[in-house]
Amino acid sequence: MKLFDVYPLYDIAITRASGAYVWDDNGVQYLDMYGGHAVISIGHTHPHWVKRIEDQLEKIAFYSNSVHLPIQQQLADKLGAVSGKNDYQLFLCNSGAEANENALKLASFHTGRKKIVAFSKSFHGRTSLAVAATDNPAIVAPVNETNNVAFLPFNDVAALEQYFAANGHTIAAVIVEGIQGVGGIHIASEAFLQSIRQQCNQYNALFIADSVQCGYGRSGKFFSHDYANVQADIYTMAKGMGNGFPVAGILIAPHIPAKHGMLGTTFGGNPLACAAALAVLEVIEQDNLIEMAKQRGMYLMNKLKEFPELSNVRGRGLMIGFDVPENLKSLRKTLIFDYKIFTGEAKPNTIRLLPSLALTRKQADEFLETLREAIDAVKAEAVNQVSVK
Ligand code: PMP
Repeated sequence: MKLFDVYPLYDIAITRASGAYVWDDNGVQYLDMYGGHAVISIGHTHPHWVKRIEDQLEKIAFYSNSVHLPIQQQLADKLGAVSGKNDYQLFLCNSGAEANENALKLASFHTGRKKIVAFSKSFHGRTSLAVAATDNPAIVAPVNETNNVAFLPFNDVAALEQYFAANGHTIAAVIVEGIQGVGGIHIASEAFLQSIRQQCNQYNALFIADSVQCGYGRSGKFFSHDYANVQADIYTMAKGMGNGFPVAGILIAPHIPAKHGMLGTTFGGNPLACAAALAVLEVIEQDNLIEMAKQRGMYLMNKLKEFPELSNVRGRGLMIGFDVPENLKSLRKTLIFDYKIFTGEAKPNTIRLLPSLALTRKQADEFLETLREAIDAVKAEAVNQVSVK
């Protein structure tokens, strides 16, 4: 059977990983500055994470949510302590899209309203409501089309206020990433997030903080929205939560009541996923990884700013973007194929860095040194091509 050909795969077969490194089927080592797309939070195959999952596997991997599964409460307690959001309620599911789907649905249940506000360059996932709130027509099927979502310009306080003034009483929720990831590492300004909070308060709409990519400590705070000192009504989380084990969740403010059966999923909150998620939080806490991400991120960004070829170095913690000029547009491919470093990208010319929060100073330096070599190689190649012509 063929795999459904939807992914722009590089012709590289990854079969093993440890910490900040992955290896292909020929044993070639790659430095993972992409974290498998912001998923690897504590490092690939972290021994504590492996042990927790193995121990849980021997006890019980799964039972349905028709009964209490005590490890869910253990996870909720730990998450409350590490995130500082102890008074919130936790709903567990399996992916970022599912978390956003449920958050949007819950907001509609809660307010009795239909309208969603989302922003330019947003990415919220590929399920029907999540994709409808995503600013990328290429992934919207006819069945997902809805006029219930309004797209406003990101970071534009005036446009937000104007829209609320005209439509506020119809809006169920505003959904916003604290730092846009897929859209190209754009930080939501403090004024913008504070204005969303204020407008939502005024019109009784819910503030949904999509923290699937920018959350879980990656930004140097547990939730990047915390930089603006605002509390969202709902936080959605996924990627870094399981360090590669599929697990996602929604934090729901105490003022939003639950009704039996309003949200549900078969696999959400299964003991194996909870064990993985618990291990991640234990390591984050023990190794002070949120502060580490902040420090390492500042170090990387300061060094990247010294590269004359790169521009718009931006980000928070270990969620970093920079732009490459036209003559270096093959840089990302060169990094992967010639220098064995994985990074992310965003169109048209951004390279994204989303490594494990446990990236060491030595690994950061390895990246920076290799980047220097790769840039020089691409420049030399360009010169060669010109002289051949
Ligand atoms: N929200 C954001 C901000 C994301 O970056 C992503 C994934 N790139 C999603 C939601 C969707 O997550 P998943 O792929 O786990 O459904």
